[in-house]
Amino acid sequence: MIFAVISDIHANLEALEAVLEDLRSQHIDTVYCLGDVVGYGCDPTRCLELVVEHCDIRLMGNHEYYALGLISNDYLSPVARQSAAWTQEHLTEEDIETISNFEMEAHLADIHLVHASPFEPESWRYILATQEAQRAFDCMQGTICFYGHSHLPMIFSCSTEGEIRHQVGHDFQPSDDKRYLVNVGSVGQPRDNDPKACYALFDADARTVTYRRVAYDIEKTQQKMKAAGVPELLVERLTVGQ
Ligand code: ZN
Repeated sequence: MIFAVISDIHANLEALEAVLEDLRSQHIDTVYCLGDVVGYGCDPTRCLELVVEHCDIRLMGNHEYYALGLISNDYLSPVARQSAAWTQEHLTEEDIETISNFEMEAHLADIHLVHASPFEPESWRYILATQEAQRAFDCMQGTICFYGHSHLPMIFSCSTEGEIRHQVGHDFQPSDDKRYLVNVGSVGQPRDNDPKACYALFDADARTVTYRRVAYDIEKTQQKMKAAGVPELLVERLTVGQ
């Protein structure tokens, strides 16, 4: 079985459509979505519809939490707060219903899926360094945990002796004697200096993880965002993948 893991779509319809098109060529059995379908971009409703249509597991991200009013926007940057308010104004009742059915975590055989971290998933912590990875390895179930949230494709491995290693996201074959944290990157707002949409594939039989980068019509997305009154910074960052 081959499954795709997508995350952090951020209401970027063109990026999501390009990824779904790419998936058609990859002989995927199923698609799982790790959350942040909404926020930042200007097409939340259509993105939610496509995620419901194509993804068998749909997890909650922090931007879904903002949309549902489950956490305060107070600590957000002014731009992020403006974006969260824009999203709340534009979501339909059906969108809210869809989002409220998203799950916090999912477990499939030896695979753990979560938006931010397996420890305190509702606190939306980032796993960026060894210290957080250690907490994540202590809490994760199974041998591979796929996550998102930072928009940075990266991999942490933990040996049976407890040694943790950290690398940028790359294709690899998980070793039987290690456990892994795999950040699948972001479909709709990459931040690793590559503006192409990012997601990951896992072949459960061959035991391989593959990262895919997919070009999409960034200018079209940016024009729509500008017309919708989304903050300029969020529009510009798509050009450079930052
Ligand atoms: Zn995100």
